[in-house]
Amino acid sequence: MPGLDEFLHIPRIAYFSMEVALRSDIPTYSGGLGVLAGDTVRTAADLSLPLVAVTLVSRHGYFRQTIDADGNQHEQPDPWEPAQNCKPLRAKVTVPIAGRDVWVGGWLYILEAPRGGRQPVILLDTDFPENAPDDRRLTDVLYGGDEAYRFKQEIVLGIGGVRMLRAIGFEIEQYHLNEGHSALLTLQLLREQAYPSEDVRPGEAHYDVPRVRELCNFTTHTPVEAGHDQFSWELVGATLGDFIEPELMRKFAGEPRLNMTRLALNLSDYVNGVAKRHAEVSRDMFPGYSVRAITNGVHPSTWTAPGIARLYDKYLPGWCREPELLVRADAYISDTEIWDAHIEAKQALIDRVRHQCGVTLNPAVPILGFARRMTAYKRADLLFSNLDRLKRIAAQWPFQIVLAGKAHPHDSTGKRLIADLHRYARELAGRITVVFVPNYDMEIALDLVAGVDVWLNTPLRPLEASGTSGMKAAMNGVPSLSVLDGWWIEGCIEGVTGWAIGDSDAKANGLDVAALYDKLEQVVLPLYYLKERERWTAVMKGAIAKNASFFNSHRMMRRYVTEAYLR
Ligand SMILES: *Cc1c(COP(=O)(O)O)cnc(C)c1O
Repeated sequence: MPGLDEFLHIPRIAYFSMEVALRSDIPTYSGGLGVLAGDTVRTAADLSLPLVAVTLVSRHGYFRQTIDADGNQHEQPDPWEPAQNCKPLRAKVTVPIAGRDVWVGGWLYILEAPRGGRQPVILLDTDFPENAPDDRRLTDVLYGGDEAYRFKQEIVLGIGGVRMLRAIGFEIEQYHLNEGHSALLTLQLLREQAYPSEDVRPGEAHYDVPRVRELCNFTTHTPVEAGHDQFSWELVGATLGDFIEPELMRKFAGEPRLNMTRLALNLSDYVNGVAKRHAEVSRDMFPGYSVRAITNGVHPSTWTAPGIARLYDKYLPGWCREPELLVRADAYISDTEIWDAHIEAKQALIDRVRHQCGVTLNPAVPILGFARRMTAYKRADLLFSNLDRLKRIAAQWPFQIVLAGKAHPHDSTGKRLIADLHRYARELAGRITVVFVPNYDMEIALDLVAGVDVWLNTPLRPLEASGTSGMKAAMNGVPSLSVLDGWWIEGCIEGVTGWAIGDSDAKANGLDVAALYDKLEQVVLPLYYLKERERWTAVMKGAIAKNASFFNSHRMMRRYVTEAYLR
């Protein structure tokens, strides 16, 4: 098939991810995990790394968020038409589901780097007339349905994905499992690496386990056991049958339920967490496994606003492919130019907020930004813990707040958080402008991280495995004010790249409200209002020179290549 041939001539790394954020208007992602996957493929394109990404087509997307007058989230399907952006794959394979053969086909999306590199992305699809109606819907909704639906999706991704790569002719050198959702691919590889069965008894000896481990690399993203995908052995038995001997599956995937993280850990030679602290937490959670750390990064050109990118082009040409060059930003870019470029980005955000929400923000007043998945541990409401204190701070140092984020349709706490934020916005009206931008996506994310003056993050330690939106802010010279967790433990230099809320010990969680208000009132806002502009732009440039130069996906991918893929 034309299109595919150009990618088949060299062996590739197969990068498996349940979600990949290809473009803002292709809704095959829900949050940070998908954006990271997209940034991984974009970087592979920039650097001409031989990768092939495998994911689900998610025809109905994640969901489109609307908010009603009471602040309640409503979810609509967010369909897209693969045929408009992708080429259909001719090959089809089957996967075993509940005793049936379910047909899996797919689409080829070619991700093109601005400067020429091209990367293949395979989007798996079960919507074929050969399949039963329920099976046709398996690749419709990202993170939709119940436990059984999710397990079947993971069969399609892991087992279907490997079979599809074979069917279309890819030679795969290494597999990279981005989170545990694709861990069933290890079982498919075990079957492929089975010794002829006549003279070997069934069981572990039948399989070349060391070879499978050699082939697999696993990146874990979840610092709590409860967050790992788990399925009852009853469901597994009923759905996957005897794909692999049940005793062996239990040995690799744990008791009392199949744990996708355990399965991936047991069958991958290389395992890493997504920040140094997260790797430590994972080692405590899974004693006996060697868990390295490769701290996440974000894709430079994707996450830099146009005006800021123009400055980098002028003073640091080559920065898109070699973002290390940003280390010189503080010396090469003048304070006036960085400030003017920021004001341009701030105006773009103000325009968006006026069009989308009908709220007019004041360009002369600092904007605090907070946007991410709305889920309990991210504590989107922490800033609003004491409205009287917040009003007093704003009376002295005016500021405005822009918020965004989706709650998973089944996450009632996340949904309540969104309603609470809307209630706080009403209560603060007239004193502090608080606006919630609905339907958070990549496009809104870029306007936000570049257009606000301070990027806020207040997770419950140690639950923010990495966090990446603060890195996007740094790309645009926007400093973070954040709890010391995830990447910020590595990225924070107090007063130089931004500011810490509390220390990095989990004991500090309960003290964060006071620490946040104190830091805003005594350090961040006075610096913005009282001191010379150069003092503020010095922190903006510190964020670029010290953090954007490091927390980018080019550094991240070069490490995956040298430490994981070429190990
Ligand atoms: C970057 C991004 C995220 C992840 O942000 P975190 O700070 O890691 O929570 C989520 N959603 C969208 C749309 C993003 O662009």
